[in-house]
Amino acid sequence: MDIEVGKTTLKTIVADITTLKVDAVVNAANSSLMGGGGVDGAIHRAGGSAILEDCKKIVAKIGKLPTGEAVITTAGNMPSKHVIHTVGPVWHGGTKNEPQLLKNAYTKSLEVAMENNLKTVAFPSISTGIYGYPVSQAAQVAVKAVFDFVGKYRGAFNEIIFCGFDSSTEAEYARALGTIA
Ligand code: ADP
Repeated sequence: MDIEVGKTTLKTIVADITTLKVDAVVNAANSSLMGGGGVDGAIHRAGGSAILEDCKKIVAKIGKLPTGEAVITTAGNMPSKHVIHTVGPVWHGGTKNEPQLLKNAYTKSLEVAMENNLKTVAFPSISTGIYGYPVSQAAQVAVKAVFDFVGKYRGAFNEIIFCGFDSSTEAEYARALGTIA
């Protein structure tokens, strides 16, 4: 599924995000920035130790990364150029400001990308694995956050990819994209 917003393409795909050749892949990290399971583990494994080295320097400077914030590192051995690490919210049934925090994770990631003049960015389905956010709800928040951001900063990006690891996840993002434009 593709839509155009100005000169930016918003697109859904099914892929292993570590294989994508984009300016930045976003990592659904945790606040420690020391790696973990899911897509975080996959990114650190594929990129190698250079990513953790950068993360350690960031933690030495700023401490733990709060939920909804984002930082940038090398992508090490991956085909992408950078990793933007963000922390999505843990799902507590929707009572702990989860939609706003998830929106912040997407928006802050795009702010970091824009500050670094990056034109193509791929997001995994943040918070919907170990953190338990229902995929259909997360997809709506994610797509709206990205749609609003690229609409506000027209020309900043060439392509933003929503990368599902499986087709049912991708389908939820495609559905959200189909209803927003
Ligand atoms: P969180 O802790 O934010 O919930 P997870 O990594 O557990 O993050 O899950 C987020 C999403 O990333 C899930 O949909 C999971 O299937 C997906 N995922 C896991 N590995 C990869 C990968 N290599 N590429 C793309 N998506 C992945």
